[in-house]
Amino acid sequence: MQTFSGKSVNQGIAIGPAVVLKKADEQVKPVRIADADAEVARINKGLSASQEQLRHLYEKAAAEVGVEHAAIFQAHRMILEDEEFLSAVRETIRREQVGAEYAAAVVGDRFARTFAEMDDDYMRARAADIRDVVSRLIRNLNGTAQADFSVTQPSVIVADDLSPSETMQMDREKVLAFVTVHGSANSHTAILARTMNIPALVGVPLDLRQIQDGTTVLVDGAAGVAVFDPTAEAIQKAQEKIAKEQKAAGLLLELRGKENITRGGKKIEVYANISGPEDVARALENDAGGIGLFRSEFLYLGRESLPTEEEQLQAYRQVLRAMGEKKVIIRTLDIGADKKADYLHLEREENPALGCRAIRFCLTRPDIFKTQLRALLRAAVYGNLSVLYPMIISADEVRRVCGLVSEAKQELDARGIPCRVPEQGVMIETPAAVMISEELAELADFFSIGTNDLTQYTLAVDRRSEKLSGFCNPHHPAVLRMIRMAAQNAHKHGKRVGICGELGADPELTEAFLDMGIDELSVPPSKILPLRKRIREIP
Ligand code: PEP
Ligand code: MG
Repeated sequence: MQTFSGKSVNQGIAIGPAVVLKKADEQVKPVRIADADAEVARINKGLSASQEQLRHLYEKAAAEVGVEHAAIFQAHRMILEDEEFLSAVRETIRREQVGAEYAAAVVGDRFARTFAEMDDDYMRARAADIRDVVSRLIRNLNGTAQADFSVTQPSVIVADDLSPSETMQMDREKVLAFVTVHGSANSHTAILARTMNIPALVGVPLDLRQIQDGTTVLVDGAAGVAVFDPTAEAIQKAQEKIAKEQKAAGLLLELRGKENITRGGKKIEVYANISGPEDVARALENDAGGIGLFRSEFLYLGRESLPTEEEQLQAYRQVLRAMGEKKVIIRTLDIGADKKADYLHLEREENPALGCRAIRFCLTRPDIFKTQLRALLRAAVYGNLSVLYPMIISADEVRRVCGLVSEAKQELDARGIPCRVPEQGVMIETPAAVMISEELAELADFFSIGTNDLTQYTLAVDRRSEKLSGFCNPHHPAVLRMIRMAAQNAHKHGKRVGICGELGADPELTEAFLDMGIDELSVPPSKILPLRKRIREIP
């Protein structure tokens, strides 16, 4: 039995076999080889596998989003056919007597750097394509191309770190817990663990090479420990704790159907945060008053191409129908920073949290954004939909978004497709949005405060940094004053204001939020009933 401590990002206890996820790039090391011919033959095999995948991706993308967007896969194929590149790789293998993966990585890096230093914007952007296609080749060489994120039996996921895109490839019903070496409490994987209500630990000092797939792991979220190969006694104790937790959860269920009202009579809405239709059942089981944040970008992650208008419509309609008359707030694509999809070919940025993410990406890619807007306008006829725009920093952005919404409406009307422009809200998650919240309140139908990013940008603390977690204090007076200011300005213009960041579930702040007049708190489904309990205790 070996016990490791980490930072708990969600409570609960789970016991199950480990599935250890090792990433491809961990394995690009200068391995000495004896047979250069065999290594060159491996490169050729890797090249054909990559070409085949790219051909398939091109055909799929051409059918789903048109040849214009599919062209990128043709460009990738051309890189893999480039004689200069290929002969440099072969030569590196022979000259340095190193493995194919390492030769491809070194040559790929050299080519990418040459492109990155060019004056021409177009040529500079090709550097990202080279990196992308070379990493595909490496994955094919070391057999991690099919890096299997599709967990087939209930398991504890053990990994170095997990990106939102990787977690989206897993069958969530089969994930019992997450244990990662890196990661932070406000990363999207941590948020996902809370949405799924499974125990999760980050910052666990594990050597993944020492852990065998299938080893039994006991994860105790509350205690912040992961026990590998636990003794029968440890398992017995954990099972007793699970039984106790289930009893406490059962008591909370008695609060279903009750109002979110303080003893003094103040009411507040409590909604659920979800990342896809698969979370709606959890929201309903926990008696959510509505969906306060549907992070639609998760529909774009863990796949090989953009979701089509029809695919999105289906997902949005499914949620709206399940929620009946209750409000469903769908946030438009908040891609960028840690939420990346390879097929979007987002440019590498020095500082992605301050980069082309969320509404900035959507305004620079109106083709992608309008597909989503059309799907949303079509979905609006099936329920009580509101749309929410992330990372707004100016009134001009809101006006530009409204312009695109009108265009989407006209396009649908011209095709005779039933649609409706829903209520439109603005996320308050940058200090800029807070400072101009009075102006924004005139344009928006409602505000939703994203405290995860608002804390990050107000305190200048990267929300994903493990090292800075000690500096990331969401109770900082600056953050609380920002929330109060945004709420006051919304109310001045008769607009509702909610909180959809993780802080909304913090019982230590519930009273303060009620005092500020916050109209709605949107929290992970499992936090709804504990929050209701807290509200009902307030004088
Ligand atoms: C937030 O920033 O608080 C928020 C709700 O958005 P996300 O966590 O998805 O960035
Ligand atoms: Mg945010």
